[in-house]
Amino acid sequence: NTFQDLGLNPDLLQAITDMGFETPSDIQNKAIPVLLEQDTDLVALAQTGTGKTAAFGFPMLQKIHLESRTTQGLILSPTRELCLQISNELKAYGKYCKGLNVVAIYGGASITDQARDVKRGAQIIVATPGRMKDMIKRRLVDISKIEYAVLDEADEMLNMGFKEDITDILAHTPEEKNTWLFSATMPKEVANIAKHFMVSPVEITV
Ligand code: AMP
Repeated sequence: NTFQDLGLNPDLLQAITDMGFETPSDIQNKAIPVLLEQDTDLVALAQTGTGKTAAFGFPMLQKIHLESRTTQGLILSPTRELCLQISNELKAYGKYCKGLNVVAIYGGASITDQARDVKRGAQIIVATPGRMKDMIKRRLVDISKIEYAVLDEADEMLNMGFKEDITDILAHTPEEKNTWLFSATMPKEVANIAKHFMVSPVEITV
């Protein structure tokens, strides 16, 4: 398979060429066509280093409405480092997506600065659960219109004690959204989250 075969648009294909990616990884081959073609929930069992950020990032970048400044995609990730890594990757993949604004939200940095960045209009927010919950409580973000929620490294987030924060955050999102969960392992706690928050998810293992 080539990236073109997966159904990605020319803006994304150009960025992929610039990055020097030659062929899609296993998880990308399995997830990208499904997420592009279907409005579905997804559970993917995948380790880091498999290219999973692009597996959810490309479909999200292709499906969001760039002409709108409403927050449409939310990615929850366990640590500040991962948040920054994901947001930087999405910015690189989306460098030809005109009007795209990706904002990272995490603890240990100025909440005022992050609130200002969000207010300028972020179609995609990449956040750690603690800071995200805090900003929702203070009404500094609005995730009431998101269409896509990603729970990245779900097992790690639960290990770090974020279950309640995740539940709280998802309670502020619309029922009709699609949820895409990625996890390296599938302990009962992760399966429970999937069962509670998702409807007939497509399941992928790599
Ligand atoms: P991830 O598993 O998302 O953390 O990705 C691991 C690394 O692989 C990142 O540095 C990506 O830039 C890179 N990568 C993702 N997809 C591909 C691909 N299809 N070909 C080459 N490198 C890739």
